[in-house]
Amino acid sequence: MKLTVVGCSPAWPNPGISHSGYLVEGEGGRLLLDCGPGVLADLRQLDGGWPKVDAIAVTHWHLDHFGDLVPWVWGHIFGLGLEDAMPELWVPPRGVAQLTEFGKLFGTPDMFERVFTIREYKEGEPCAAAGFELNAYRMLHYALESYGLRVTDGDRTLAYSADSAPCDGLVELARDADLFLCEATLADSESDAKPRGHVSLEEAVETFEASGAKRLLITHRPGELPVVGGWEQATPRLQIEL
Ligand SMILES: [Zn+2]
Repeated sequence: MKLTVVGCSPAWPNPGISHSGYLVEGEGGRLLLDCGPGVLADLRQLDGGWPKVDAIAVTHWHLDHFGDLVPWVWGHIFGLGLEDAMPELWVPPRGVAQLTEFGKLFGTPDMFERVFTIREYKEGEPCAAAGFELNAYRMLHYALESYGLRVTDGDRTLAYSADSAPCDGLVELARDADLFLCEATLADSESDAKPRGHVSLEEAVETFEASGAKRLLITHRPGELPVVGGWEQATPRLQIEL
């Protein structure tokens, strides 16, 4: 399994860096985790054409995690990627209805289903996406329904926090994973809202240590907050073979 960081900015962009987007490739296919603004342009550059992905999985409905699904639709409708099979689009529970609402605002109610085969994942029910097994874990992210995603090929496992405050689900998501890709948006735990929505670097490390995961990769970190302590940090085009 190979991870390529496409974009790794927090909810506002670090200079020159796209929002959330992580490409996971295996023998069975290519899976994109989140598709925030800028990710489509980066993927086009990486792939040398219209992106070829078998599935996209969206963790939650904050724009920095799904915004580029909209231009993805327009590119397809204007003739790009027509020779490829429709990518699956895995979304949180009730996501089909949510996409219809977004469609009414951004174009047409059916715009997303014209381009993607849309499926809803559910916590506790593994699903198959791009040759991987995908498991969703409920996170704590303000009052919004958000999911961390665990991707495995039966041998190696990647755990992706998406956005979450410290919670038991975050530890379980990362449990014994080969790589824990974890956000660290906050300067400290005091700078969060109520209910909480993100973790600090210190809390990301605490979660990692409690989980038994083998390797930690920090992401979704504001450029103004350096990652201290020698922890690895996601950068665009960083590739990790698991
Ligand atoms: Zn979010």
